[in-house]
Amino acid sequence: MSNLQLYSSISHEKETFTTYEPGKCGMYTCGPTVYHYAHIGNLRTYMMEDVLEKYLRYAGYDVKRVMNITDVGHLSSDADTGEDKMLKGARREHKTVMEIAKFYTDAFFDDCQKLNIKRPDVVEPATGCVPEFIHIIETLIEKGYGYLAGGNVYFDTSKLDNYNVFTKQESDEMAVGVREGVDEDENKRNKSDFVLWFTKSKFDDQELKWDSPWGLGYPGWHIECSGISLKHLGEHLDLHCGGIDNVFPHHTNEIAQSEAYLGHPWCKQWFHVLHLNTTSGKMSKSKGEFLTVSLLEEKGYAPLAYRFFCLQSHYRKSLVFSWEGLDNAQKAYLKLRGRTSALKDEGDVDAEKLAPFKAAFCEAMDNDLSTSLALTSVYDVMKADLSDAEKRALIADFDSVLSLDLLTPVAAQKSDDDAEIDALVAARQQARADKNWAEADRIRDELAARGIVVKDTANGAEWSRA
Ligand code: AMP
Ligand code: ZN
Repeated sequence: MSNLQLYSSISHEKETFTTYEPGKCGMYTCGPTVYHYAHIGNLRTYMMEDVLEKYLRYAGYDVKRVMNITDVGHLSSDADTGEDKMLKGARREHKTVMEIAKFYTDAFFDDCQKLNIKRPDVVEPATGCVPEFIHIIETLIEKGYGYLAGGNVYFDTSKLDNYNVFTKQESDEMAVGVREGVDEDENKRNKSDFVLWFTKSKFDDQELKWDSPWGLGYPGWHIECSGISLKHLGEHLDLHCGGIDNVFPHHTNEIAQSEAYLGHPWCKQWFHVLHLNTTSGKMSKSKGEFLTVSLLEEKGYAPLAYRFFCLQSHYRKSLVFSWEGLDNAQKAYLKLRGRTSALKDEGDVDAEKLAPFKAAFCEAMDNDLSTSLALTSVYDVMKADLSDAEKRALIADFDSVLSLDLLTPVAAQKSDDDAEIDALVAARQQARADKNWAEADRIRDELAARGIVVKDTANGAEWSRA
């Protein structure tokens, strides 16, 4: 196993990553609320979780990853008030909730595929697990943690010694109603209590409802993730992931109800990804205007250039999106991929020579997933005194985690830029004739970035698309 040091949102320090059962890792990811397209901020979170999953596999863990699909119960405010987001989406598009859920779930996985985000081993929609949620809620009521008020079932946070596990702030300050200035729910005994099961809410046209011991209703958002995780990953969870906004109240509430239900500690490690922001603030689905992968493609960006953009910075730092930043990332990415994909399977492969490069890559990733340093290891390999076959072997190895398709040639460019390439090839020939090697190399790299391979023959330079 590796010596992975991962930042813990609970201790606020880097800790050595361990699992309940050595060599096995149960990993849970909060999935998308499928009432709209995922924006590239959401996808930053999923991409960094994907890198973590792949690195754990690389390090030898047998990973089982589970993700929920939130298709019911996530209200417009995390304080359990407002409209169900799914209903809002259905109204917007004059469709049923299940039609909306299907459409945006498929769209989400299409985006994931474009960004080389692996599909989790288990993907479970919340609407498929309602009996499991009801069972947990019944147990919580029996144990004295749940109470009925005004028709809804609530979790009583005052029953816990330590509710705010992620922060030292007082509960009252953290109560979402107070924080967001939304209406307080009069039924709650304590401000930080939250809904486990809704039968009554401000609106009565909720489309999806289920029978329950407390009447016709639907589950709260938080119980979904506890229920789905317990169903597929058992009573001891190794790793739970999400975006930083999930820390409170969502993950705080998940811990409260899971541990109250189980009667013992539940999840070992919490991994949170900081947000992608625009220059005017956080990117958010509910604000309406947001960037999607399709929009990046329409503007001529390769989805994997966005992956490269994200990997250049650390997951625990907020990342500000700008077109200029993405432009630079795309140029650097295509140039690198042009060079790595042009490596031939030629020359000896000496395992001893590969070892220090692998060690540098692991050192970067072990240091709280420093993907920018891991990218530096790729550049170091390209500069090193190694055969092409050795370089290829190392790049393939690192790319099993980075997933940048570094050994796949960049797709051929449109043929109407042939004249431009002819001109570049001619300029390179001129630079060589002038013994201006730096300029000749610069042009060769530029051509490589466009997927162009130049061969010097007796008849002069010939080029082809890789
Ligand atoms: P949602 O579909 O709204 O439930 O969010 C899906 C995931 O994206 C959650 O893990 C959120 O924490 C995360 N998320 C939301 N907004 C952002 C953002 N601007 N940048 C990065 N991650 C985000
Ligand atoms: Zn969740």
